[in-house]
Amino acid sequence: MSDPAVLNPMQQEVLAALAKPPGWEPIGDDVVASVREQLRAGVAHLAGRLPEGETLWVSKHALSTVHACERNHRDGGRDFEWSIATIRGTVLHRCIELAVNWRGDPSPADVVDESLAQYEASPDGSAGEWIAALPPGERALLRGQMVDLFSKFEECFPPLQRSWRPVVESSARHELLDGRITLATRSDLTLGAVGSRVIIDVKSGVVRPVHREDLRFYALVETLRTGKAPRLLASYSLVTARPDVEEVTAGVLEAAVRRTVDGISAIADLSLGLRDPSVRPGPTCLWCPLREDCGPGRDWLAARDDPESFED
Ligand code: SF4
Repeated sequence: MSDPAVLNPMQQEVLAALAKPPGWEPIGDDVVASVREQLRAGVAHLAGRLPEGETLWVSKHALSTVHACERNHRDGGRDFEWSIATIRGTVLHRCIELAVNWRGDPSPADVVDESLAQYEASPDGSAGEWIAALPPGERALLRGQMVDLFSKFEECFPPLQRSWRPVVESSARHELLDGRITLATRSDLTLGAVGSRVIIDVKSGVVRPVHREDLRFYALVETLRTGKAPRLLASYSLVTARPDVEEVTAGVLEAAVRRTVDGISAIADLSLGLRDPSVRPGPTCLWCPLREDCGPGRDWLAARDDPESFED
């Protein structure tokens, strides 16, 4: 355990926000069984509609996009292009992964350089391919922004103790309807053991309401996979140095089931071509590749006051 006396105020706030309160009790097995049954019943109507041998992948991105704007969900990924703004979160997560497992005490620049080098050495992935093709000036700009971001992570988070069992980029899956549906998550950072786990999403930009929904989905998949609910969910904004923390309760898990069932139904309808997507302008328009040709999206963007862009 870190000594709070030597931590800066931001690190002390994180430590206090994530601490297990005295008398905390895990969620009971009856709640877990109920949540499992609610989800099973909620997707049962899709059993005869989803083709055998195919898998409907349901991620936090799929759920957040289908709930935000169905047209963006269906068509927005086709024209996705990396930019410095969109790749920063990806590189940041690699930096955190390296730093947590690095022997010694590397500087932020060391970690960023290694992260970029790893991407460039495996340009088969789209992120690596994009970074490897950057002109020197653009690469220097990305490096500078990443050193700033990762320095903020080190300033904000207390040093992660081995006894906290930190795990980065941890994948989890849960299958429904004999594998026709797979719920898939990848947590930025988890602390603690099964049954009292803390799931943390690290944000390079501001925390938005949808990030709480994202983490509720993570809590649901963790509960279904392990049979035990996590203890706490936290989105942490490096730019504001503030955690948004939510305790996992029966109500949180039940809300996650309802949103997940609704999202799965919409994703299935759209992927099977059963209806046209609805169009819903909002913050997603800021980075939507369809915005040039979307009237409602252009109107929303023209009317907004905040000149700052949202970033994950
Ligand atoms: S620009 Fe906005 S409203 Fe239009 S498709 Fe994209 S997210 Fe939807």
